Amino acid sequence: MKIQMLGSAAYDRVPAMFCQCPACLQARKLGGKNIRTQAQAFINDDLLIDFGQDNYIHFLNCGKDYTKIKNILLTHSHEDHFMPNELVMTTSWFGHNDIEEPIGVWGNADCKALFETNTREMKCQYHLVQPFETFQAGAYTVTALPAKHAKDDDLVYIISDGEKTILYNNDTGFWKEEVYAFVKENGFRFDFVASDCTFCLQEGNAGRSHMSLENNVAHRQRLVDMGAVTEQTPWLVTHYSHNNLIRDGKAVTAEELEEIVKDCGMIASFDGIQFEI
Ligand SMILES: [Zn+2]
Ligand SMILES: [Zn+2]
Ligand SMILES: [Zn+2]
Repeated sequence: MKIQMLGSAAYDRVPAMFCQCPACLQARKLGGKNIRTQAQAFINDDLLIDFGQDNYIHFLNCGKDYTKIKNILLTHSHEDHFMPNELVMTTSWFGHNDIEEPIGVWGNADCKALFETNTREMKCQYHLVQPFETFQAGAYTVTALPAKHAKDDDLVYIISDGEKTILYNNDTGFWKEEVYAFVKENGFRFDFVASDCTFCLQEGNAGRSHMSLENNVAHRQRLVDMGAVTEQTPWLVTHYSHNNLIRDGKAVTAEELEEIVKDCGMIASFDGIQFEI
């Protein structure tokens, strides 16, 4: 299974547009991996996770053929994850393509309401997903877990192609106890994890709606203890905010962050990072 992270920032991106903090000023100066767009990911060539504000720049940069997308999983309705209007680009008026089957768009009730604000034709079909539901999206068996984020039915996803299983774990804080219990009872094993790290270098964060690096270490330990991952399982931290890429008043570069995250036995995301598992 191939995983490509199209973006690695939270809503505000790095640099944020109206920000003069050390992290943003440094990112503008250094460029390259220090420039971070909003989180979105591709699984192989046919499954997209989220469809947010930076979707178009990701399309330009990722080299994928969007007409091959069969399904889109939506985590939640925040604008960095879902902007429904551009789905009208799937129709023949805006795009000349041979898409025959409607693209499956999967997500919660808020995303459905947004999807339905599109009154124009789309080659898409919405599927309402409930927390703890397992469904088949093309070649993938997907289980939706309730995130600890804004709404009770905001979702993170377990995605399996029958051989490998990944956990796409953002946006979320620490899971509710029932979610840890569900993963344990069902004996899920993950071969790869991509996880929320919005609060990155912030210390003492409670992990209520997003996680820090410290929170990721604790969250991973719970999954190690129940046998869902090992300490060798690739664990990518992503969805950073510029507010938390500062340590001792000094901005950390992408390379410095990679070292800090590596010391925790994890991998720091950047825009375009790819894995094959
Ligand atoms: Zn987000
Ligand atoms: Zn900033
Ligand atoms: Zn969010």
